[in-house]
Amino acid sequence: MTSGSLDSADAPASPTKARLTVLSGPSGVGKGTVVAEVRKLFPHVWVSVSCTTRKPRPGESDGVQYHFVNDAQFDELIAAGELLEYATFAGNRYGTPRKPVQQHLAAGRPTVLEIELQGARQIRDSMPDAQFVLLTPPSMAELRDRLMGRRTEGVPDLEARMARAEIELAAAEEFDRVIVNDDVQRAAAELVGLIEVVSG
Ligand code: ADP
Ligand code: 5GP
Repeated sequence: MTSGSLDSADAPASPTKARLTVLSGPSGVGKGTVVAEVRKLFPHVWVSVSCTTRKPRPGESDGVQYHFVNDAQFDELIAAGELLEYATFAGNRYGTPRKPVQQHLAAGRPTVLEIELQGARQIRDSMPDAQFVLLTPPSMAELRDRLMGRRTEGVPDLEARMARAEIELAAAEEFDRVIVNDDVQRAAAELVGLIEVVSG
């Protein structure tokens, strides 16, 4: 795993407590797209880089979209207590490195975790001050179209992700806010409004 060190130059100190925002939502709903739009508008928002055992997609590089690790390395991270949460999703394992999240929050930087439902539930238990946002598609047909349009998964993986989508959307009441991703700019503006609110 590449180091997720804190770059103090771009993490200004803040007198208020930065807020942790957990963004969940079905695979293909547009979490990555909306968060990228948020970062374009507000580069000081920090988005956690997860570890995963999934193979990189074309265009993905280690330490940018994910820290790509193997199963043994993932086990070691768990054993060393280095993951804030972790889960298995559609046959691969995903987890949030603990230290960078703690460091960025301590530096006063609004922080976002883009993770699935099981991980969000673990964060709710361990970090109850976080806010929980669910991004939803305008319809299941649109979700399928987006997943197919992305062309990153084969049919079995795509169907596994659609099955998980039903479960994730059924948990909407566990979240503090629901944002419908009907339009990237509109959804990003709504998300920014939540991320920027400080806690404490
Ligand atoms: P996730 O990170 O939730 O898995 P992505 O951000 O990869 O989803 O988006 C899945 C696909 O849907 C991408 O091809 C993206 O361009 C497209 N997409 C995202 N948001 C919208 C939107 N509001 N309208 C239409 N297409 C969208
Ligand atoms: P993908 O393979 O499409 O990149 O991600 C699949 C799912 O895993 C998405 O719902 C994504 O939000 C979730 N995910 C990514 N990183 C993490 C993580 O660190 N922890 C958990 N629990 N889920 C994650």
